[in-house]
Amino acid sequence: MRPELSDYDHLSGGKVREIYEVDAATLLMVATDRISAFDFSLDPEIPDKGRVLTATSMFFFDLLDGVPNHLAGPIDDERIPEEVLGRAQVVTRLQMIPFECVARGYLTGSGKKEYDATGTVCGVELPEGLTEASRLPEPIFTPATKAEQGEHDENVSFAYVASALGEDLATRLREATLDIYARAAAYAETRGIILADTKLEFGLDEDGTLVLADEVLTPDSSRYWPADSYEEGRVQPSFDKQYVRNWLTGPKSDWDPADGTPPPELPGSVVEATRDRYVEAYERLSGTKFGDWPGAMA
Ligand code: ATP
Ligand code: MG
Repeated sequence: MRPELSDYDHLSGGKVREIYEVDAATLLMVATDRISAFDFSLDPEIPDKGRVLTATSMFFFDLLDGVPNHLAGPIDDERIPEEVLGRAQVVTRLQMIPFECVARGYLTGSGKKEYDATGTVCGVELPEGLTEASRLPEPIFTPATKAEQGEHDENVSFAYVASALGEDLATRLREATLDIYARAAAYAETRGIILADTKLEFGLDEDGTLVLADEVLTPDSSRYWPADSYEEGRVQPSFDKQYVRNWLTGPKSDWDPADGTPPPELPGSVVEATRDRYVEAYERLSGTKFGDWPGAMA
């Protein structure tokens, strides 16, 4: 008999995930179907989104052979309650590193803003003349502080991380982050997808081993761009949230992200199309069908 979710203590909840305690050394991380855009949680949820993100993470943990990760059991582990099957991971509780470890191979988002103002990103000097979506001469490590709920993460330099954690741990984080980015980006390329950047989280286990944690290489933690429509100099369409963003900013929603009011409820057709994008991103990346995943809706 599988346990009920209510058998576990609820430890915390973020924008997307809920964390429960399995035992002193083990957590249950449950990915919900919540989706956010323009810093608002949207209504309704996107059915199966949490399962698709969990499937994506599991795929990449497996692909990153040799990188220690936080998984403490399989996707159908008997400690996972039926009601969250397919959207939950049983993981080793780690002492989390208080920085988001970001690797960027392309210039966009907060990196582009900083580059325009200073010519650097997180203290890394970049050549002149780069523009939106430019490929960088080589991937760079651009850490950020982990912001409190509701705040934005803040980009910091390697030197800042080194002064907080020590040169040795900071260097290990940078090496691990760039290594994982390089491997994942090379793999995505074989699937016709550009991995523009990704955010990783690491923790330390009892032996002081650096362990890859959280979610990995999902569309929520990474920018994936279709390679065939890539064009330097413009904002690239993202795989997953672009559809819902376009609808929200288009004429049909009758909503302005700038006016401070919450966005309108998403129509069924937009919910369905958004779900299709998440599933498509997973299927394209993994080369497997999402319909076979535990708990997936037919
Ligand atoms: P948000 O993503 O909404 O900005 P968040 O990142 O705090 O907030 P979630 O991503 O929903 O919240 O929840 C995941 C939380 O669990 C994060 O705080 C993450 O650092 C933490 N976490 C991930 N893996 C582990 C682990 N193996 N041990 C301990 N904590 C972990
Ligand atoms: Mg998070």
